[in-house]
This record gives sequence, C-alpha cells and structure tokens, in this order.
Amino acid sequence: MSTEQAKKTFVLKGIGVSPGIVIGKAYLFDPLDIQLSFFKLADSSLIPREIQRFKNALKESERQLVEIQENLKKTKVTEPLYIIDVHILILKDKKFVNRTIKYIRRLGINAEWAIRMTLDRYKQIFEEVEDSYIRGRISDVQHVIQRVLRCLSGKKRETIWDIGEGVIVIAPDLSPADTAQLKMEKVKGFATDIGGRTSHTAIVARAMEIPAVAGLDNISRMVHPTDIVIVDGTSGLVIVNPYPDILKRYEEKKLHYAAVKDEYLKYAKNPATTRDNYTVQIGGNIEFIEEIPSAIAHGAEYIGLYRTEFIYINRESLPTEEDHFNNYRQVVGVKDLLWSTIRTFDLGGDKFPANQKQVKELNPQMGLRAIRFCLQEVDLFKTQLRAIWRASAIGKTKILFPMISGIEEIREAKKLLEETRNELLAEGVEIAPKMEIGAMIEVPSAVVIADKLAREVDFFSIGTNDLIQYALAIDRANERLTYLYEPLHPAVLRLLKRVVDAAHVAKIRVAMCGEMAGDPMCCLILLGLELDELSMNHLAIPRIKRIIQESTIEEAKTLLKKAMSFNSSAEIRVYVQDYMMQRFPQELHKEED
Ligand code: PEP
Ligand code: MG
Repeated sequence: MSTEQAKKTFVLKGIGVSPGIVIGKAYLFDPLDIQLSFFKLADSSLIPREIQRFKNALKESERQLVEIQENLKKTKVTEPLYIIDVHILILKDKKFVNRTIKYIRRLGINAEWAIRMTLDRYKQIFEEVEDSYIRGRISDVQHVIQRVLRCLSGKKRETIWDIGEGVIVIAPDLSPADTAQLKMEKVKGFATDIGGRTSHTAIVARAMEIPAVAGLDNISRMVHPTDIVIVDGTSGLVIVNPYPDILKRYEEKKLHYAAVKDEYLKYAKNPATTRDNYTVQIGGNIEFIEEIPSAIAHGAEYIGLYRTEFIYINRESLPTEEDHFNNYRQVVGVKDLLWSTIRTFDLGGDKFPANQKQVKELNPQMGLRAIRFCLQEVDLFKTQLRAIWRASAIGKTKILFPMISGIEEIREAKKLLEETRNELLAEGVEIAPKMEIGAMIEVPSAVVIADKLAREVDFFSIGTNDLIQYALAIDRANERLTYLYEPLHPAVLRLLKRVVDAAHVAKIRVAMCGEMAGDPMCCLILLGLELDELSMNHLAIPRIKRIIQESTIEEAKTLLKKAMSFNSSAEIRVYVQDYMMQRFPQELHKEED
C-alpha cells in the first residue's frame, strides 16, 4: 500500500456554495493564525499611542483592500469590488471606529481587546435582527475585524499569494477579499468550517467561479497538508484522500461538468427520445445522497445505480440497519424520481474499512468482493437487505446484486432476500409487496450464461467498468494499461449484444450503468444495441440526452452494424469517432480544464 493510500479516507458533507468539481492537494490556510493578547494598559499615558496603533491598523487594512480591488479590476469580475467596498465602509464607519476608541480610552485596554468588545457589541445587535439575511451579515464585520487584528499583530500576512497554484484551500473561514484573491492566485477551490450560501464569501466564490463547500464544521482541523481533496461544490461534498476508483470517477465527473452547457440543461428535462420516436430511459448514478438534486437538475429520470459501499467508509463502526435505512429512504422518497436502484454493497478487496478483519489480497479486483463477500458475511448482508426492504415501502425501489458470476450466487442472494422479507413480515414491518431484482452483468461468465440468469431476475444492469476489465484482462485502475481499456473493442460489443439479446428474449429489461453509458462517443452504439436504460454519472446526462434526441434508432443500428463488421478496436474507434465527430461536433467537443 502506498503512503497515499494509507492516508485516511473520509467524506464531509457541507453546503455547496459554488458549483463545480476540483481535485487537488490541500493547503491549510488560517487567516487569523496570530496570538492575540488582551491586556490593560500600564498607565493612561499609553492611551494616545494605543489609539494611534488602532488607526494605523485601520489604514493598513484599507490599503490592503484597495490593493486587492486594484488587482481585481484587471479581471472582468466586478461583483467582489462592491463587497470589498462594503468592507472599506465598515472600516471607516464612525460608530465602529469611535466605539473602539471609546473602549480604549475609558477602560484603558489595548486595541485588540477594544476591537473584540466592539465585535461582541455588533454580534448582539445583529442577533436581534429578525431577517436572517441581514443577521448573516455579521460575517462581514467579522472579516473586517480579523483583518484589522492581523494588521495590529504586525505579522506579515501569510498570503494567499505564497500558496502557489493548483491547491485547494482549507480554512476555518475566508473573507470575500481572501476569496477574490484565491482566484487571482489560481487556487482551484476551497472548503471552510463555517459559512453558508448567502454569505458574501459564497457570492464572491460563485462570481469568480471557484468551486467551494462551506459549513463543514471542522474540516480545517481534520485535513492535513498534502492530503488529496475533492471538492464537489455542486453536491456540497468534500472527499479527502479518495480511493483510486472514486478519484477516477470524480475525474470523469469533472470533465463532464466542464462540458455541460446551459443550453443542454434545457433539453435535459425532456426524455431521450429519438427523432423516430424510440425512447431510452436515462438514470443517474450516485455515490452519495447529496448528489440527488444535481442528478435531477441534470435530467436523471431515476437513480439507476446507488453505490451503497460509500455508507461504509467514513466511520469507525459498521453501519446499523437504521443507518442504511436512513440513507435509502432519502433516495427512494424523492418524488421526482421514477424509481431508485439500490445496489448492495460492493465492498471487499482493498475497499473494506480498516477496522475490519482485512486479509491483504494480491489481486483485490478479483478477490473477495461484492456478492462473494456478502454471501460469506451473511449478517452484514442481511442488515442491508432488511433496510432496502423497509425503504421499498416508501418509494419505488429496485435491488441490484453486483458481481454475479454464476447462477448459485443469484439464487443464494435471492434466498437471503426472501428470508429477510419473511422476517420483516413476521415482525409486522411495512414493506412493498414486490421489489424488482436485478443482476449486474459485469463478469464475462455472466454474459455467457445470460440466457439462464435472465430467468432468475427482473432486469440486468451491465457494469462495463468491470466487464471490460475482466473481458480484456486489464486492471481498470492501472494507468499504464489505459490504452488497452477500449469499450469499443469488438469483443466488448459482442458481449454487450449477447446480454441485450438474452434479456430481450427473456422479456426482461436491460440497463447499462458503467461509465460507457455516459460516454458520448459510444452513445449511438448503445442506442443501436437497444439498451432499455442508460444510467450514468449524472453530469454526463445532458449531452447524452441531446445526442439521442438528435438521432434516429435507424442510424444507430446502421452505425452499430458497420462497427461490428470491423475486426479490430482501432478500426471501430476510428470509424465511430469520425462518424460521431461529424454528426455531433458540439456534443463531442471535450473541454479540458
Ligand atoms: C461497473 O463495474 O461498471 C459498475 C457500474 O460498478 P462499479 O464501477 O461500482 O464497480
Ligand atoms: Mg462493477
């Protein structure tokens, strides 16, 4: 295990204040890392000097803010200018200045103490205001006061300009001025302990298009310098030291996010119906429930894959039935979704929590993971199954079993599902009368016996991420092999066709939920294969829907036929790529960051 992997993985949920996804090294920044001392002045002759110190600090603070404004004027973003103006006005506010001077003079205390008293007074006044927006504006006073205190300390500002490019700033709090500087210094994003959507800091972050999550409580004490951090400002999540697979998934999300244009969102609400009236149902894949609003906004009609293994990370002990249930009910209870497919956990191999008995496997991708692990750890599995049944009473729920490689596994899983159903019924717990059961088709053996498996389940969901790695014998996480990881490999296309045909002969629906489903380049090929459902990284949905809406099933079938007539991956890729680039130049244009 490398040191990078040995670092603790955890996920924090806060408030997404500025959308977008960024990945980078953490940089811990504390705007107030100064030691403040509060004391009474030795005698009253020191008072004038203390007042002068305070006035100098005000001047220096103003100078700094004006300098930031000057730099900002060179950019085209004007929003922060006004907010910084407000901060300058606070600095010059007579009441603020006079009150502080009065405290120094009357109480014979140092400027730091007097400013603190002024702040306390302001806090009292703001707390009495009914309007929550105005109440929240106390943060502006706080930010101004922090700057003055820092100037008083005489400490040269640890500056955001010392930080260097490409990092993600983690801080207890950031002022709007700090935030404006972040962008100028090419910081990728930030995450803070406090703050909310309407704070001025959030407004500046949005104006400057810096992805950010605030309100994370104590992230500044949990993250270490050089930790790798994902900030998902769209869903309000921060993932620290992500596992390689989640890192990869977020890199994809980031690319899709960059490519989603506002115009696509208009079409994303409409179904993915071709010009000749053929409809594919489009779902979203989620790892965290916080992603649901964004999935719906991007056009997800249902949740086609909820990767429940993420409930297991981030915690010291195993999740209870209640923990599971609390997560699932928030997914299946969303009324804008047609249904939610909960995949039983795909843990094992290198993904299992550290406090569990963990056998180091030489080849975890082919190890004791997913359904294999569940069938050995039956109690753990049944806890989850019970929670999924209970969720089924709340909204339409489908259950999906991962890594099915043979008929015994699906039968055994169904047996346990039936057992938990009977237990719950005996306990008088409310559950749905029926729940659709699906098998993930992601192991080549499952493809070969798809006709048999189809008789055991209500639907298939093809997991191309694993299917491709096993079919082509390519570790999906191995960077050196990415050139061989080819969804358009003729063998992969044949495998897919076989699964779809077997499903349709058995009159069950077939979905795809691997990354291939959201790859615009493969879109017409999948349409031609006549998959019933495509569930994907939700940020990919708008472009995929647009491509389907603009095409016909006939052209898709013709393209597939032609593609399948070639012998090699390279020929297929070149042909499909040329076709798609000509046909959908806009949608295929990838915007790298
Ligand atoms: C897949 O293998 O394609 C899949 C969707 O599952 P996961 O990526 O979670 O292994
Ligand atoms: Mg898989």
